[in-house]
Amino acid sequence: MSHIIEKYANEIEFIDLKVVDIHGRLRHVMLPGDRLTESLFTEGVGFDASNFGFAAVESSDMIMIPDPETAFIDPFYTEKTLSFFCDVYRVDSLEPFPQYPRNLLRTTVEKLKEVHASDAMMAPELEFHIFEGLSYEVSANRVYYEVDVSEGFWRSSEFSNQNVVGRKMGYHRTPPADIFANFRNEVVKILLKIGVPVKYHHHEVSSAQHEIELLFQNALKAADSILLTKYVIRNTASRYGLVVTFMPKPIYEEAGNGMHVHQFLVDENGKNLFSGNDYGGLSTFAFQYIAGVLEHSLTGSLLAFTNPSANSFKRLVPGFEAPVCAAFARANRSAAVRIPGYVKNPDKVRIEFRTMDATCNPYYALSAILLAGIDGIKKKLDPKEMGFGPLEKNVYLMSYKEKESIKFFPTNLNATLNGLKKDNEYLKGIFDEKLIANWYTLKQEEARYVNSVPSPAEYQLYFDL
Ligand code: GLN
Ligand code: MG
Ligand code: MG
Ligand code: MG
Repeated sequence: MSHIIEKYANEIEFIDLKVVDIHGRLRHVMLPGDRLTESLFTEGVGFDASNFGFAAVESSDMIMIPDPETAFIDPFYTEKTLSFFCDVYRVDSLEPFPQYPRNLLRTTVEKLKEVHASDAMMAPELEFHIFEGLSYEVSANRVYYEVDVSEGFWRSSEFSNQNVVGRKMGYHRTPPADIFANFRNEVVKILLKIGVPVKYHHHEVSSAQHEIELLFQNALKAADSILLTKYVIRNTASRYGLVVTFMPKPIYEEAGNGMHVHQFLVDENGKNLFSGNDYGGLSTFAFQYIAGVLEHSLTGSLLAFTNPSANSFKRLVPGFEAPVCAAFARANRSAAVRIPGYVKNPDKVRIEFRTMDATCNPYYALSAILLAGIDGIKKKLDPKEMGFGPLEKNVYLMSYKEKESIKFFPTNLNATLNGLKKDNEYLKGIFDEKLIANWYTLKQEEARYVNSVPSPAEYQLYFDL
C-alpha cells in the first residue's frame, strides 16, 4: 500500500471507507485525508458490527481495514476523496471475521482448489427501473391507499406517457423513446473511470427499465463491481432528482429486474475449464457444476441467497423472460441456466445463471453458487440424468400435462428458507452455522412482514366481498 500512500497522500482531502452489511448494502465512514498512513492499513478503524446485521453474538467491536486493491477516487463528493472497500477483522485476534461478505467469498474462491480450479470469472448484468419523484415513504398505511393496482405499484415518468414506451415494448429502443440513454452514458463513463469494466448498456423490455452489463472479472472483483455499479447508478440518478430501484418486480405485469451472471471457472493458467465437446461446447466439468447449481436451486437452498426477498418470487413467474424452473437450455429464457449459443470462442465459453436478482448480497450469492457448483463437480453429477434438461421448450407455453416433468422452483421466500434449513451441507465450512441461522431468521421475519401486511391486490379482490 505504500504506492497508494505515495500516489495520493498530498492530493486527497478525505478517505472514504466502504463496508458491506449482511444484506449487501454499502455503508461508509469518512476520515480526513492525512490519515492515509501505513497504520490505517494495519490498525484500521473500529466499528460496531452488530449494526450491520451480523449475528448478535458477534456484536463485539470489529475493525475495518481498507483493501488497497480497491482504491478509487469517489466522484460523488465535493472534496477529493479516496475510497476503499474494506475487510473486517476481529479486534482481539485480528483474524478475518468469517461472516463478512468479502472474507467469505475469498474463502470460497480458495476452496475452488479442491476441484482443481483457481478462480471463477463472472460477468453480471444489472437491470433496474428509473422513477421520477418516488416517495421513499413506504410505511404500510400510505402505500395501501395510494396504489393504483391496474398500473402496478409505482408510476414512472415513462408510464405517464404510455405512447413513448408501451408495456413490454422497451427492449433496445432508441431515443427519443429511450429517454435515459444519456443518463446511462454518464453512469458508464463514471464506472470506467473508477475501474468497473462495462460491456454495454441499453433500454430493457419494461417501460422505465434499463440495463448495464459488465465484462468478466474474477469473483471478488465482480461482487465489488455489482455494489459499485448500484452505487454509481443511484448517485447519478440522485443528481437529477431521479430514483432507481433494482427490486425484482417493481411493476405488476411488466418485466422484472434480474441480475443474470455469466460464469466459468479457470485453472491457475487462466484456462477456461468449462470449454469442451459436450452440448453447447461445454465440458463434463461444466455440466457437473450446472447440476450442482440446479440441484441446490431446486431445494430452495441456493435461492435463499440468490433471490432472498419476498419480492424476488414475484419476478420468478411465467411470461417475463425470468426463469421458473431448475433446467438448462441453449436459448430458452424460462430455464435457470442458459448456455449462450453466440459464443464461438472456446476461451469464452460460459454458462448464464439467470435466476439471481439484485436484492441478494452478491458476495454470499456468488459464494453459494460456487459452492453448489463445487458440490456438483465433487459428486460428478450429470444434469441430463437428473432430468434437468436440455429443456428446449418454453415452459410458459407448455400444457398442464407437459409441465408434469418440469422441476419448478419454490414459489416463495418461506419455501426457499425451509430448503436452506434442510439442504445446507454444501455450504458448510464457508457459511458458518451462526450465519445460516441468522440469515434464516432475518429473512423469515421479512417474509412474515410482507405476508401479514394486506396488499393492494387484496383490497381489489376482497374489500367489497
Ligand atoms: N428481465 C428479465 C429477468 O427478469 C431478463 C430479460 C433479458 O435480459 N432478456 O430476468
Ligand atoms: Mg443482458
Ligand atoms: Mg436483460
Ligand atoms: Mg442475460
